[in-house]
Amino acid sequence: MIDALEIPVTRVQTSKLKDFSFDSLPFGKYFTDHMLVADCINGEWKNIEIKPYQPLMLDPALAALHYGQSIFEGIKAYKDAAGEAFIFRPYDNFRRFNQSASRMEMPEVPEEIFIEGMRQLVEVEKDWIPAKAEHSLYIRPFMFATDAVLGVKPSDTYKFMILLSPTGPYYAAPMRIYVEEVYTRAAPGGVGNAKNAGNYGGSLRAAVEAKNKGYDQVLWTDAHEHKWLQEVGTMNVFFVFNDKVVTPSLEEGTILEGVTRDSAITVLGEMGIKVEERRISIDELIEAYKAGKLKEAFGTGTAATISLIKELRYQDFVIEIDPEKCTTAHELKARLTAIRNNEVPDRHGWMFKV
Ligand code: PMP
Repeated sequence: MIDALEIPVTRVQTSKLKDFSFDSLPFGKYFTDHMLVADCINGEWKNIEIKPYQPLMLDPALAALHYGQSIFEGIKAYKDAAGEAFIFRPYDNFRRFNQSASRMEMPEVPEEIFIEGMRQLVEVEKDWIPAKAEHSLYIRPFMFATDAVLGVKPSDTYKFMILLSPTGPYYAAPMRIYVEEVYTRAAPGGVGNAKNAGNYGGSLRAAVEAKNKGYDQVLWTDAHEHKWLQEVGTMNVFFVFNDKVVTPSLEEGTILEGVTRDSAITVLGEMGIKVEERRISIDELIEAYKAGKLKEAFGTGTAATISLIKELRYQDFVIEIDPEKCTTAHELKARLTAIRNNEVPDRHGWMFKV
């Protein structure tokens, strides 16, 4: 634990909450009344405050806009049946955030700002956490370079912020996935295991082309041979075979180390299912499908939790999976939901009380 940091809070005069409807909450569309901001100037953190959500005034030469030193995280807060607020595994996102910062030559954010700042902001905005199934308060910490000078070099100044967005179910329908062979998300030695903004900008062309062909997302493959499977859109991917579950390993540094991926591996273990973290190729997947051994495929991520894959297209070959028969994924999702709703004992210490 850390010493409680007294963060100054400037409150809105009138909350948007009284006119707000929790009935339809598309992902990332609505924001709460307040946000957290902090500045890092030559390695020193200052100006930490919680204040009304508002636009920023930024210099047009802002380094982040020109050279892409910009990273983010995605975390969720839930309310249990007793109305208590919890954040799911924030320390894992904290660690990953600072790994991204290090890879992008940005300063690390101290725990008392990232974790304690987040806790205090969520506490201020507790009434914005929807108390409905599959709903949550999405937490978006981010940091970007703020030097107002052109020239490719690490910035001397940065802004760290946290925004909160009440959200409903995401990617609820089983997905049709296109196995990508032209575009590359990440190569060894690159930034695939960092959550930097540029990874997402660079992924859009492939996602749009897949959509135009009638698919929901792409399954990324390796940069060199385009046959080793990486991730599905912005989710980690799992394949359930007759006797085992396989997910691509993190060794090459081309895959984001998902917090939900880790939760899924742990909970599948508790279900008596061993997960193999290793290289897996599209050829192995197709062979297993032809032999009737491929039973389920799903993506894992904070936004969607578990998203079933009902179809995978590789060149002219189509793998079809009946979502109704995805019993492993359904049980995994139910178990993760029970943990996050605080309906079962929190054996792993994943629920951080606000
Ligand atoms: N891969 C990518 C590229 C992502 O953006 C995300 C979402 N953060 C994930 C995987 C899943 O990670 P997590 O379970 O931590 O949300």
